[in-house]
Amino acid sequence: MTKPKSSWQPSDARFSYSSFVIHSSFVIRASSFLLAWFAVSSTLLAADNLGILGTKPNWDVLENYQRTITHDEFAHLLNDVYCTHGIPNDLIKIDSDSAQIVSSRDSGKVFTLQFAPDENSEARIPRLWRPAKSLPPTKPDKPLGGLRIALDPGHLGGRWAKMEERWFQVGDTKPVTEGDLTLRVSRLLATRLKRLGATVLFVRNSTQPITSKRPRDFVDLAKKILIENGVPRPRDEVLNPMDPAKEGTIRWQSEMLFYRYSEIRRRAVLVNTKLHPDLVLCLHFNAEGWGDPANPTLIDNNHLHLLVNGSYLQDELALDDERFEMIRRLLSRAYDEELPIADTVAASMAKATSLPAYQYPTTLTTTKVGSSGNVYARNLLATRIYRCPVVYCEPYVMNSKDGYARIEAGDYEGTKEINGVERKSIFREYADSVANGLADYYREARK
Ligand SMILES: [Zn+2]
Repeated sequence: MTKPKSSWQPSDARFSYSSFVIHSSFVIRASSFLLAWFAVSSTLLAADNLGILGTKPNWDVLENYQRTITHDEFAHLLNDVYCTHGIPNDLIKIDSDSAQIVSSRDSGKVFTLQFAPDENSEARIPRLWRPAKSLPPTKPDKPLGGLRIALDPGHLGGRWAKMEERWFQVGDTKPVTEGDLTLRVSRLLATRLKRLGATVLFVRNSTQPITSKRPRDFVDLAKKILIENGVPRPRDEVLNPMDPAKEGTIRWQSEMLFYRYSEIRRRAVLVNTKLHPDLVLCLHFNAEGWGDPANPTLIDNNHLHLLVNGSYLQDELALDDERFEMIRRLLSRAYDEELPIADTVAASMAKATSLPAYQYPTTLTTTKVGSSGNVYARNLLATRIYRCPVVYCEPYVMNSKDGYARIEAGDYEGTKEINGVERKSIFREYADSVANGLADYYREARK
């Protein structure tokens, strides 16, 4: 699940750095403190105009993308995918033969991108990943032959699950921890993808973080963030998980800097500099507000959606690093590959799971894209900074009555009756439907 998107206040946009979505009642829990923090966060970071733990972008690398895209395609991708909440006119200007993009808000420096005059004269797009169409022919039973797929099981699980707030327990039954569930699905999925010919790489294959940093490494930064945002003497005591004031503590802030920002940024370094996949699959389970984790609310709602990168907010584009990452992603044309993959995988998952498509309660942060009805564009940290096509899966509501019963039933072969219906194990259904969707997409695209 991804965290927390608000239906009631746009300044909550800062959380879209996160790679987690928390819905409905989680949103209510977001305190007025958070509101204050996010509302002023651009001021806080004004010195360098960078996102949290972001690094200064090197705009020179975009020189390699000169004349690789036409005016019309650039405008289409901005209007319909990346800047669906408006193009910030003072930061991105499109002329007939070039675009001017402010590279540093402080200095006012501008990067100029020259368009290709027409599709036939487009220069080669520099990128390390390979679109399906460019892969060599393969045997019919190996539709993923030659393909490098990285699996990114969301969150950490294990001893970190409570800290990540990806933990709940009904009575004295086995606790539900998203990071462990996603790892289990990833291992099952890896076997299936290898059988289909893929080379499978794990972004994480244990409950240990990829980042070497720990919350204590972020104590000073957490304190600084709190002080600069109107908490003059931040507290450090541990507060009840239900107490919204916990978000104003050094403890809570430094933990989030560790398990969300630092961890995902390190995963990106691994993906971009070592794994070099053609596709990353981010695997999650969804949830809706469960209230007290030790006495969670189970609900009737269960649903499915997938995410690709896009739908940037104006506040996000005001940060120099996010604006750069958006333009680089646009120019790499990752969207042209990840959208049809997401659509095909979504169709396969919808069929296998019978889950209805999730409808975001607001269009403030997401934009529905594609043809399956299950895919949204959204600017999450992972979908933005992994430099290749990324498909982010959000099936099953863990605290739905059905989802919870299936998680508690564990993994098994064949089918079992759960809530009156014969079902595969939720883990196998997830892994099988993703693998089948990928096989469908690559079989068709490599014909
Ligand atoms: Zn998640």
